[in-house]
Amino acid sequence: MGFFRRKTTVSSPVSWKITQKCLDLIFESSKSNYPMEFGALLRVDRVEKNMIIEVVLLPGTVSGDSHAIFHLHMLPIDYSIVGTVHSHPSSIARPSDADLDLFNHFGKIHLIIGVTQYGDISWQAYDYAGREAVVEVV
Ligand SMILES: [Zn+2]
Repeated sequence: MGFFRRKTTVSSPVSWKITQKCLDLIFESSKSNYPMEFGALLRVDRVEKNMIIEVVLLPGTVSGDSHAIFHLHMLPIDYSIVGTVHSHPSSIARPSDADLDLFNHFGKIHLIIGVTQYGDISWQAYDYAGREAVVEVV
């Protein structure tokens, strides 16, 4: 992959991974919460710190029909938590302005799951700045 134009000041990018099991759970939760949103935190493995293995439900996080489902003051101080996941009850897995604000304040990697009434799933990962990020499913 020698085609990336690289700025000299950029820090080496983290290559994120997520287990299929964890992703399946996220998809199922997104479907079962439809037409409400599902939201949770992403936890990485204690040894492999770029491997997302678990979703953690945040106390006070409710499924809602708006985007204000994360209560930032309730976020735990836990370095195994690297970001967030939430569903969009639409086919559009693109961040809203509120999402971008959240990404900017918390975490390094964020997933948005688009889910339709037919249970069709699309998903996309984003970094803290709302740029599309690659997460490898393992
Ligand atoms: Zn959103």
